[in-house]
Amino acid sequence: MTALLRQSEPIVVPVALGVRAYDIIIGRGLLASLGERIKTLRPGARVAIVTDETVAAHHLAATETALEAASIGSARIVVPAGEGSKSYAIFEKVCEAIIAARVERNDLIVALGGGVLGDLAGFAAASARRGLDFVQVPTTLLSQVDSSVGGKTGINSRQGKNLVGAFHQPVLVVADSALLDTLPKREFRAGYAEVAKYGLLGDAAFFTWLEKNWQDVFAGGPAREHAIAVCCRAKAGIVARDERETGERALLNLGHTFGHALEAGCGFSGRLLHGEAVALGMALAFEFSAKKGLISAADAARASAHLAAVGLPTHVKDVPGGVPPVDILMELIAQDKKVKRGTLTFILVRGIGQAFIEKNTDATEVRAFLTDKLK
Ligand code: NAD
Ligand code: MG
Repeated sequence: MTALLRQSEPIVVPVALGVRAYDIIIGRGLLASLGERIKTLRPGARVAIVTDETVAAHHLAATETALEAASIGSARIVVPAGEGSKSYAIFEKVCEAIIAARVERNDLIVALGGGVLGDLAGFAAASARRGLDFVQVPTTLLSQVDSSVGGKTGINSRQGKNLVGAFHQPVLVVADSALLDTLPKREFRAGYAEVAKYGLLGDAAFFTWLEKNWQDVFAGGPAREHAIAVCCRAKAGIVARDERETGERALLNLGHTFGHALEAGCGFSGRLLHGEAVALGMALAFEFSAKKGLISAADAARASAHLAAVGLPTHVKDVPGGVPPVDILMELIAQDKKVKRGTLTFILVRGIGQAFIEKNTDATEVRAFLTDKLK
Protein backbone atom coordinates (compact mmCIF):
# COMPACT_ATOMS: atom_id res chain seq x y z
CA MET A 1 0.00 0.00 0.00
CA THR A 2 1.18 3.52 -0.73
CA ALA A 3 0.43 6.84 0.93
CA LEU A 4 -2.71 8.81 0.08
CA LEU A 5 -2.16 10.73 -3.13
CA ARG A 6 -3.10 14.38 -3.67
CA GLN A 7 -6.72 14.33 -4.67
CA SER A 8 -6.73 17.39 -6.91
CA GLU A 9 -5.38 15.38 -9.81
CA PRO A 10 -6.60 12.04 -11.10
CA ILE A 11 -4.71 8.90 -10.13
CA VAL A 12 -3.29 6.98 -13.10
CA VAL A 13 -2.70 3.26 -12.78
CA PRO A 14 -0.96 1.73 -15.82
CA VAL A 15 -1.74 -1.85 -16.82
CA ALA A 16 1.53 -3.12 -18.32
CA LEU A 17 0.45 -5.51 -21.04
CA GLY A 18 2.87 -4.69 -23.86
CA VAL A 19 0.95 -3.82 -27.03
CA ARG A 20 -2.28 -4.17 -25.06
CA ALA A 21 -1.17 -1.77 -22.28
CA TYR A 22 -3.67 0.82 -21.05
CA ASP A 23 -4.29 3.27 -18.24
CA ILE A 24 -6.90 3.25 -15.51
CA ILE A 25 -7.71 6.84 -14.53
CA ILE A 26 -9.35 7.33 -11.15
CA GLY A 27 -10.86 10.51 -9.72
CA ARG A 28 -13.98 12.36 -8.67
CA GLY A 29 -15.74 14.12 -11.56
CA LEU A 30 -13.63 12.52 -14.31
CA LEU A 31 -16.60 11.78 -16.56
CA ALA A 32 -16.56 15.40 -17.77
CA SER A 33 -13.11 14.77 -19.31
CA LEU A 34 -14.11 11.59 -21.18
CA GLY A 35 -14.43 13.28 -24.57
CA GLU A 36 -11.04 14.99 -24.35
CA ARG A 37 -9.40 11.74 -23.25
CA ILE A 38 -10.95 9.82 -26.13
CA LYS A 39 -10.00 12.55 -28.60
CA THR A 40 -6.37 12.39 -27.46
CA LEU A 41 -6.30 8.60 -27.57
CA ARG A 42 -8.13 8.15 -30.88
CA PRO A 43 -8.47 11.39 -32.90
CA GLY A 44 -11.49 11.37 -35.19
CA ALA A 45 -13.10 8.31 -33.62
CA ARG A 46 -16.90 7.97 -33.39
CA VAL A 47 -18.36 6.31 -30.34
CA ALA A 48 -21.22 3.95 -29.49
CA ILE A 49 -22.17 4.08 -25.82
CA VAL A 50 -23.56 0.81 -24.47
CA THR A 51 -25.35 1.18 -21.15
CA ASP A 52 -28.28 -0.17 -19.13
CA GLU A 53 -31.60 1.55 -18.44
CA THR A 54 -30.83 2.36 -14.81
CA VAL A 55 -27.38 3.78 -15.50
CA ALA A 56 -28.77 5.66 -18.52
CA ALA A 57 -31.28 7.45 -16.29
CA HIS A 58 -28.48 8.67 -14.01
CA HIS A 59 -25.43 9.18 -16.19
CA LEU A 60 -26.05 8.87 -19.96
CA ALA A 61 -26.81 12.57 -20.54
CA ALA A 62 -23.60 13.63 -18.78
CA THR A 63 -21.62 11.10 -20.82
CA GLU A 64 -23.07 12.37 -24.10
CA THR A 65 -22.41 15.96 -23.03
CA ALA A 66 -18.78 15.10 -22.25
CA LEU A 67 -18.36 13.59 -25.72
CA GLU A 68 -20.13 16.49 -27.45
CA ALA A 69 -17.82 18.93 -25.66
CA ALA A 70 -14.96 17.30 -27.58
CA SER A 71 -17.02 17.26 -30.82
CA ILE A 72 -17.35 13.46 -30.72
CA GLY A 73 -20.52 12.06 -32.22
CA SER A 74 -22.10 9.13 -30.40
CA ALA A 75 -24.81 6.52 -30.77
CA ARG A 76 -26.56 5.04 -27.72
CA ILE A 77 -27.37 1.38 -27.17
CA VAL A 78 -29.47 0.82 -24.04
CA VAL A 79 -30.21 -2.64 -22.63
CA PRO A 80 -32.29 -3.70 -19.59
CA ALA A 81 -30.48 -3.58 -16.23
CA GLY A 82 -29.48 -6.80 -14.51
CA GLU A 83 -27.62 -10.08 -15.00
CA GLY A 84 -30.30 -11.21 -17.49
CA SER A 85 -28.67 -8.96 -20.10
CA LYS A 86 -25.58 -11.20 -20.21
CA SER A 87 -27.54 -13.39 -22.64
CA TYR A 88 -27.23 -14.49 -26.29
CA ALA A 89 -30.34 -12.48 -27.16
CA ILE A 90 -29.06 -9.18 -25.77
CA PHE A 91 -25.54 -9.86 -27.08
CA GLU A 92 -27.04 -10.22 -30.58
CA LYS A 93 -28.98 -6.96 -30.17
CA VAL A 94 -25.87 -5.08 -29.05
CA CYS A 95 -23.73 -6.44 -31.92
CA GLU A 96 -26.43 -5.61 -34.50
CA ALA A 97 -26.83 -2.10 -33.03
CA ILE A 98 -23.06 -1.53 -33.17
CA ILE A 99 -22.97 -2.54 -36.84
CA ALA A 100 -26.11 -0.50 -37.62
CA ALA A 101 -24.50 2.54 -35.98
CA ARG A 102 -21.64 2.16 -38.49
CA VAL A 103 -19.02 1.88 -35.80
CA GLU A 104 -15.86 1.06 -37.73
CA ARG A 105 -12.46 -0.38 -36.86
CA ASN A 106 -11.01 2.99 -35.79
CA ASP A 107 -14.02 3.92 -33.67
CA LEU A 108 -14.71 3.03 -30.06
CA ILE A 109 -17.32 1.34 -27.90
CA VAL A 110 -17.87 2.94 -24.49
CA ALA A 111 -19.14 0.50 -21.86
CA LEU A 112 -21.00 2.68 -19.34
CA GLY A 113 -22.24 0.64 -16.39
CA GLY A 114 -21.48 -2.04 -13.87
CA GLY A 115 -19.90 -5.45 -14.35
CA VAL A 116 -22.85 -6.77 -16.35
CA LEU A 117 -22.55 -3.98 -18.88
CA GLY A 118 -18.75 -4.15 -19.06
CA ASP A 119 -18.81 -7.91 -19.65
CA LEU A 120 -21.56 -7.66 -22.28
CA ALA A 121 -20.28 -4.58 -24.14
CA GLY A 122 -16.69 -5.83 -23.94
CA PHE A 123 -17.65 -9.14 -25.53
CA ALA A 124 -19.70 -7.36 -28.22
CA ALA A 125 -16.65 -5.15 -28.87
CA ALA A 126 -14.44 -8.25 -29.10
CA SER A 127 -16.83 -9.81 -31.63
CA ALA A 128 -18.47 -7.15 -33.81
CA ARG A 129 -16.42 -6.54 -36.98
CA ARG A 130 -13.96 -9.13 -35.60
CA GLY A 131 -12.92 -6.82 -32.79
CA LEU A 132 -13.38 -3.16 -31.93
CA ASP A 133 -11.55 -1.22 -29.27
CA PHE A 134 -13.49 -0.25 -26.18
CA VAL A 135 -13.32 2.06 -23.19
CA GLN A 136 -14.63 1.04 -19.80
CA VAL A 137 -16.52 3.65 -17.78
CA PRO A 138 -17.41 1.56 -14.71
CA THR A 139 -20.28 2.84 -12.58
CA THR A 140 -20.38 0.36 -9.66
CA LEU A 141 -17.76 -0.10 -6.97
CA LEU A 142 -17.39 -3.73 -8.05
CA SER A 143 -16.68 -2.75 -11.64
CA GLN A 144 -14.28 0.07 -10.68
CA VAL A 145 -12.10 -2.23 -8.57
CA ASP A 146 -12.54 -5.51 -10.39
CA SER A 147 -14.46 -6.25 -13.57
CA SER A 148 -13.42 -3.24 -15.69
CA VAL A 149 -9.74 -4.19 -15.36
CA GLY A 150 -8.17 -7.31 -16.81
CA GLY A 151 -10.00 -7.96 -20.07
CA LYS A 152 -12.35 -10.79 -19.13
CA THR A 153 -15.57 -10.27 -21.10
CA GLY A 154 -18.53 -12.50 -21.77
CA ILE A 155 -22.09 -13.62 -21.29
CA ASN A 156 -23.81 -16.49 -19.47
CA SER A 157 -24.58 -19.89 -20.96
CA ARG A 158 -27.65 -21.92 -19.98
CA GLN A 159 -25.10 -24.19 -18.30
CA GLY A 160 -23.45 -21.58 -16.14
CA LYS A 161 -22.19 -18.06 -15.67
CA ASN A 162 -19.51 -16.48 -17.87
CA LEU A 163 -19.06 -19.61 -20.00
CA VAL A 164 -19.06 -17.79 -23.36
CA GLY A 165 -16.65 -14.93 -23.80
CA ALA A 166 -13.25 -13.63 -24.75
CA PHE A 167 -10.20 -11.97 -23.29
CA HIS A 168 -10.42 -8.45 -24.73
CA GLN A 169 -8.57 -5.67 -22.94
CA PRO A 170 -10.03 -2.14 -22.93
CA VAL A 171 -7.88 0.69 -24.33
CA LEU A 172 -8.76 2.96 -21.38
CA VAL A 173 -10.62 2.74 -18.07
CA VAL A 174 -12.14 5.94 -16.66
CA ALA A 175 -13.28 5.36 -13.07
CA ASP A 176 -15.18 8.42 -11.83
CA SER A 177 -15.80 7.82 -8.13
CA ALA A 178 -18.64 10.38 -8.10
CA LEU A 179 -20.72 8.03 -10.29
CA LEU A 180 -20.95 5.76 -7.24
CA ASP A 181 -22.95 8.41 -5.35
CA THR A 182 -26.13 7.19 -7.09
CA LEU A 183 -25.42 3.50 -6.44
CA PRO A 184 -27.80 1.84 -3.92
CA LYS A 185 -26.05 1.27 -0.57
CA ARG A 186 -26.47 -2.49 -0.79
CA GLU A 187 -24.71 -2.58 -4.20
CA PHE A 188 -21.91 -0.38 -2.85
CA ARG A 189 -21.47 -2.68 0.14
CA ALA A 190 -21.39 -5.77 -2.10
CA GLY A 191 -18.63 -4.15 -4.17
CA TYR A 192 -16.77 -3.35 -0.97
CA ALA A 193 -16.35 -7.09 -0.37
CA GLU A 194 -14.04 -7.14 -3.41
CA VAL A 195 -12.16 -4.12 -1.99
CA ALA A 196 -11.58 -5.94 1.30
CA LYS A 197 -10.53 -8.97 -0.75
CA TYR A 198 -7.41 -7.18 -2.03
CA GLY A 199 -6.33 -6.52 1.56
CA LEU A 200 -7.12 -10.03 2.71
CA LEU A 201 -5.37 -11.72 -0.21
CA GLY A 202 -2.17 -9.75 -0.47
CA ASP A 203 -1.92 -6.47 1.43
CA ALA A 204 -2.21 -6.60 5.23
CA ALA A 205 -1.40 -2.88 5.57
CA PHE A 206 -4.31 -2.01 3.25
CA PHE A 207 -6.62 -4.23 5.31
CA THR A 208 -5.58 -2.38 8.49
CA TRP A 209 -6.16 0.94 6.65
CA LEU A 210 -9.65 -0.24 5.63
CA GLU A 211 -10.48 -1.21 9.21
CA LYS A 212 -9.82 2.43 10.15
CA ASN A 213 -11.11 4.24 7.06
CA TRP A 214 -13.99 2.23 5.60
CA GLN A 215 -16.61 4.78 6.63
CA ASP A 216 -14.82 7.42 4.53
CA VAL A 217 -14.74 5.03 1.56
CA PHE A 218 -18.52 4.70 1.86
CA ALA A 219 -19.00 8.46 2.44
CA GLY A 220 -17.18 9.35 -0.78
CA GLY A 221 -14.23 11.38 0.45
CA PRO A 222 -10.65 11.06 -0.87
CA ALA A 223 -10.42 7.68 0.91
CA ARG A 224 -12.74 6.29 -1.78
CA GLU A 225 -10.40 7.15 -4.65
CA HIS A 226 -7.45 5.90 -2.64
CA ALA A 227 -9.12 2.53 -2.00
CA ILE A 228 -10.10 2.17 -5.68
CA ALA A 229 -6.53 2.99 -6.74
CA VAL A 230 -4.97 0.46 -4.34
CA CYS A 231 -7.30 -2.24 -5.66
CA CYS A 232 -6.65 -1.34 -9.32
CA ARG A 233 -2.88 -1.34 -8.72
CA ALA A 234 -3.13 -4.78 -7.15
CA LYS A 235 -5.29 -6.15 -9.94
CA ALA A 236 -3.18 -4.49 -12.66
CA GLY A 237 -0.04 -6.09 -11.21
CA ILE A 238 -1.58 -9.54 -11.07
CA VAL A 239 -3.10 -9.26 -14.57
CA ALA A 240 0.19 -8.00 -16.05
CA ARG A 241 1.98 -11.05 -14.63
CA ASP A 242 -0.74 -13.59 -15.48
CA GLU A 243 -3.17 -12.25 -18.09
CA ARG A 244 -4.81 -15.60 -18.89
CA GLU A 245 -5.08 -16.98 -15.34
CA THR A 246 -2.63 -19.81 -15.61
CA GLY A 247 -1.29 -19.11 -12.11
CA GLU A 248 -1.28 -16.14 -9.77
CA ARG A 249 -4.48 -14.54 -11.15
CA ALA A 250 -6.41 -17.32 -9.40
CA LEU A 251 -5.63 -15.58 -6.09
CA LEU A 252 -8.35 -13.08 -7.06
CA ASN A 253 -10.76 -15.95 -6.47
CA LEU A 254 -10.28 -15.76 -2.70
CA GLY A 255 -13.72 -16.44 -1.19
CA HIS A 256 -15.13 -17.28 -4.62
CA THR A 257 -15.24 -21.09 -4.42
CA PHE A 258 -17.53 -21.10 -1.39
CA GLY A 259 -19.06 -17.83 -2.67
CA HIS A 260 -20.04 -19.13 -6.13
CA ALA A 261 -21.60 -22.25 -4.62
CA LEU A 262 -23.67 -20.13 -2.21
CA GLU A 263 -24.61 -17.66 -4.95
CA ALA A 264 -25.66 -20.44 -7.31
CA GLY A 265 -27.42 -22.24 -4.43
CA CYS A 266 -29.53 -19.11 -3.91
CA GLY A 267 -30.35 -19.12 -7.63
CA PHE A 268 -28.34 -15.94 -8.39
CA SER A 269 -31.27 -14.09 -6.88
CA GLY A 270 -31.49 -10.82 -5.01
CA ARG A 271 -31.24 -12.89 -1.82
CA LEU A 272 -27.46 -12.96 -2.08
CA LEU A 273 -25.55 -10.55 -4.33
CA HIS A 274 -22.19 -11.64 -5.75
CA GLY A 275 -20.19 -9.44 -3.38
CA GLU A 276 -22.23 -10.64 -0.41
CA ALA A 277 -21.51 -14.24 -1.41
CA VAL A 278 -17.80 -13.36 -1.72
CA ALA A 279 -17.78 -11.81 1.79
CA LEU A 280 -19.34 -14.95 3.24
CA GLY A 281 -17.01 -17.09 1.11
CA MET A 282 -13.95 -15.20 2.40
CA ALA A 283 -15.09 -15.59 6.01
CA LEU A 284 -15.45 -19.33 5.34
CA ALA A 285 -12.05 -19.54 3.57
CA PHE A 286 -10.42 -17.92 6.62
CA GLU A 287 -12.23 -20.24 9.03
CA PHE A 288 -11.34 -23.25 6.89
CA SER A 289 -7.69 -22.12 6.90
CA ALA A 290 -7.87 -21.80 10.70
CA LYS A 291 -9.38 -25.27 10.95
CA LYS A 292 -6.47 -26.63 8.91
CA GLY A 293 -4.04 -24.95 11.31
CA LEU A 294 -2.74 -22.50 8.70
CA ILE A 295 -3.75 -19.35 10.61
CA SER A 296 -4.84 -18.48 14.13
CA ALA A 297 -8.50 -18.34 15.10
CA ALA A 298 -7.84 -14.68 15.97
CA ASP A 299 -6.87 -13.86 12.36
CA ALA A 300 -9.99 -15.58 11.04
CA ALA A 301 -12.11 -13.69 13.57
CA ARG A 302 -10.47 -10.39 12.57
CA ALA A 303 -11.26 -10.91 8.86
CA SER A 304 -14.90 -11.74 9.64
CA ALA A 305 -15.27 -8.91 12.14
CA HIS A 306 -14.40 -6.27 9.54
CA LEU A 307 -16.76 -7.69 6.90
CA ALA A 308 -19.53 -7.89 9.50
CA ALA A 309 -18.81 -4.31 10.65
CA VAL A 310 -19.63 -2.95 7.19
CA GLY A 311 -22.81 -5.03 7.14
CA LEU A 312 -21.74 -7.92 4.92
CA PRO A 313 -22.80 -11.53 5.65
CA THR A 314 -20.17 -13.71 7.35
CA HIS A 315 -22.32 -16.61 8.59
CA VAL A 316 -24.63 -18.87 6.59
CA LYS A 317 -27.41 -17.80 8.95
CA ASP A 318 -26.99 -14.23 7.63
CA VAL A 319 -28.47 -15.32 4.28
CA PRO A 320 -32.20 -14.54 4.23
CA GLY A 321 -34.11 -17.76 3.59
CA GLY A 322 -31.04 -19.87 4.40
CA VAL A 323 -28.62 -21.73 2.11
CA PRO A 324 -28.98 -25.14 0.40
CA PRO A 325 -27.91 -28.37 2.16
CA VAL A 326 -24.32 -29.58 2.09
CA ASP A 327 -24.88 -32.14 -0.71
CA ILE A 328 -26.01 -29.43 -3.10
CA LEU A 329 -23.24 -27.05 -2.05
CA MET A 330 -20.61 -29.77 -2.58
CA GLU A 331 -22.03 -30.51 -6.03
CA LEU A 332 -21.87 -26.81 -6.91
CA ILE A 333 -18.29 -26.59 -5.62
CA ALA A 334 -17.32 -29.59 -7.76
CA GLN A 335 -18.80 -27.86 -10.85
CA ASP A 336 -16.74 -24.77 -10.17
CA LYS A 337 -14.15 -23.88 -12.80
CA LYS A 338 -11.39 -24.24 -10.21
CA VAL A 339 -11.71 -28.05 -10.29
CA LYS A 340 -9.00 -29.99 -12.10
CA ARG A 341 -9.08 -33.79 -12.47
CA GLY A 342 -11.16 -34.43 -9.36
CA THR A 343 -9.16 -32.41 -6.85
CA LEU A 344 -10.49 -29.16 -5.49
CA THR A 345 -8.48 -25.98 -5.85
CA PHE A 346 -9.02 -23.51 -3.04
CA ILE A 347 -7.52 -20.16 -2.24
CA LEU A 348 -6.43 -20.47 1.39
CA VAL A 349 -4.50 -18.11 3.68
CA ARG A 350 -1.42 -18.22 5.86
CA GLY A 351 -2.39 -14.90 7.44
CA ILE A 352 -4.14 -11.64 6.62
CA GLY A 353 -2.69 -10.58 3.26
CA GLN A 354 -1.13 -13.98 2.60
CA ALA A 355 -3.36 -15.98 0.28
CA PHE A 356 -2.05 -18.96 -1.66
CA ILE A 357 -3.38 -21.50 -4.15
CA GLU A 358 -3.99 -24.97 -2.67
CA LYS A 359 -4.52 -27.39 -5.56
CA ASN A 360 -5.11 -30.56 -3.63
CA THR A 361 -7.84 -29.76 -1.18
CA ASP A 362 -9.51 -32.88 0.14
CA ALA A 363 -13.24 -32.79 -0.69
CA THR A 364 -14.17 -34.80 2.43
CA GLU A 365 -12.45 -32.19 4.59
CA VAL A 366 -14.44 -29.43 2.87
CA ARG A 367 -17.66 -31.39 3.36
CA ALA A 368 -16.98 -31.92 7.07
CA PHE A 369 -16.21 -28.21 7.49
CA LEU A 370 -19.39 -27.11 5.68
CA THR A 371 -21.56 -29.64 7.52
CA ASP A 372 -20.33 -28.11 10.76
CA LYS A 373 -21.02 -24.57 9.51
CA LEU A 374 -24.56 -25.42 8.41
CA LYS A 375 -25.54 -26.73 11.88
P1 NAD B 1 -24.46 -4.69 -12.39
O1 NAD B 1 -23.72 -4.27 -13.58
O2 NAD B 1 -25.69 -5.51 -12.61
O3 NAD B 1 -24.88 -3.41 -11.53
C1 NAD B 1 -25.66 -3.59 -10.37
C2 NAD B 1 -26.94 -2.75 -10.43
O4 NAD B 1 -26.61 -1.39 -10.18
C3 NAD B 1 -27.65 -2.77 -11.78
O5 NAD B 1 -29.04 -2.78 -11.53
C4 NAD B 1 -27.24 -1.46 -12.42
O6 NAD B 1 -28.23 -0.97 -13.33
C5 NAD B 1 -27.13 -0.55 -11.22
N1 NAD B 1 -26.17 0.54 -11.36
C6 NAD B 1 -24.93 0.48 -11.93
N2 NAD B 1 -24.29 1.65 -11.76
C7 NAD B 1 -25.13 2.46 -11.08
C8 NAD B 1 -25.01 3.78 -10.60
N3 NAD B 1 -23.89 4.49 -10.74
N4 NAD B 1 -26.09 4.32 -9.98
C9 NAD B 1 -27.22 3.60 -9.79
N5 NAD B 1 -27.38 2.34 -10.20
C10 NAD B 1 -26.34 1.77 -10.85
O7 NAD B 1 -23.56 -5.50 -11.36
P2 NAD B 1 -22.05 -5.40 -10.83
O8 NAD B 1 -22.12 -5.84 -9.43
O9 NAD B 1 -21.41 -4.13 -11.17
O10 NAD B 1 -21.33 -6.51 -11.71
C11 NAD B 1 -21.66 -7.88 -11.61
C12 NAD B 1 -21.24 -8.57 -12.87
O11 NAD B 1 -19.83 -8.41 -13.04
C13 NAD B 1 -21.50 -10.06 -12.89
O12 NAD B 1 -22.12 -10.40 -14.11
C14 NAD B 1 -20.12 -10.69 -12.83
O13 NAD B 1 -20.05 -11.93 -13.50
C15 NAD B 1 -19.30 -9.64 -13.49
N6 NAD B 1 -17.87 -9.66 -13.11
C16 NAD B 1 -16.94 -9.67 -14.10
C17 NAD B 1 -15.60 -9.66 -13.80
C18 NAD B 1 -14.58 -9.63 -14.89
O14 NAD B 1 -13.38 -9.75 -14.61
N7 NAD B 1 -14.98 -9.45 -16.12
C19 NAD B 1 -15.18 -9.62 -12.47
C20 NAD B 1 -16.15 -9.58 -11.47
C21 NAD B 1 -17.50 -9.60 -11.81
MG1 MG C 1 -15.90 -11.47 -7.71
